[in-house]
Amino acid sequence: MSFSSIGVVGAGTMGHGIAHVSAQAGFQVVLFDVTLQAAEAGLAKIEKNLAVGVEKKKVTPEAKAAALERLRVTDSLSALAGCQLVIEAVPERLGLKQELFKALSGHCADDAVLASNTSSLSLTELAAAATQPQRVVGLHFFNPVHLMKLLEVVRALQTSDETVERVRAYGAAIGKQLIVVKDSPGFASSRLGVALGLEATRMLEEGVASAADIDQAMKLGYGHPMGPLELGDLVGLDVRLAIAEYLYAETGSPTFRPPQLLKKLVRAGKLGRKTGEGFFRY
Ligand code: NAD
Repeated sequence: MSFSSIGVVGAGTMGHGIAHVSAQAGFQVVLFDVTLQAAEAGLAKIEKNLAVGVEKKKVTPEAKAAALERLRVTDSLSALAGCQLVIEAVPERLGLKQELFKALSGHCADDAVLASNTSSLSLTELAAAATQPQRVVGLHFFNPVHLMKLLEVVRALQTSDETVERVRAYGAAIGKQLIVVKDSPGFASSRLGVALGLEATRMLEEGVASAADIDQAMKLGYGHPMGPLELGDLVGLDVRLAIAEYLYAETGSPTFRPPQLLKKLVRAGKLGRKTGEGFFRY
């Protein structure tokens, strides 16, 4: 059974992007956050990104208006009751996401698919918190969601084939290219991407080169569209630290040991683009 109505929980960096691409692809979308103000801030970002799309002639004014028409914001979890697919994009904390999956299991229909946009956490552990664990799956989007092509589908131990097929159809409908990976710390993407970002942070800490030059090495030498430090600022250094801490705890690998510099920046509230400063100033 395909989806017509999509719920998105968390209207931050990722949630608003997921709501955006879903509404633009023709789905009815309910965007939830803990306060109506936060949900509306997410909606305002979607409006802004669609306006840029119109300016660049990638989106017609009619398509923009239609996408906004299909979006509804809420601070009440029960408003997600009619959604056949709910995707959570709340902060990277296992307990928080488990609580949410438990609560969503109570609100949503038995055949609804519950998906997590986690960058690293165990889907199998998250699925265990839901009453229908076979309908839990990872849908890992990339930032900025409306521009990045990849959608990483993560299969928990409990995820059914039917659930994977249903989210495959959703991924195709929103125009993403899918990879399907087994539940494993950091999956296929974060495991490699975070390793690079943490090593770049350690190099900066050791004074190997400036932040700009470390990034240039990867951009000009390896053809990366963005340097690992610049990318950390875009992702959010708090988000990156949470992932590193989790991967380090799970794997014990020194590759993922969070560098002091990353911890210090987060403690100072320098979280990257969203606060105006991280490795770079904005
Ligand atoms: P964010 O901090 O920008 O947004 C989180 C949102 O969740 C905020 O709007 C917050 O108000 C809301 N929230 C907090 N508690 C909530 C609750 N109990 N119920 C509902 N909403 C709640 O975070 P983000 O960067 O969007 O990351 C969200 C998830 O996406 C994380 O799991 C992260 O690992 C993953 N992710 C992030 C990126 C990235 O580049 N930032 C990329 C891929 C995946």
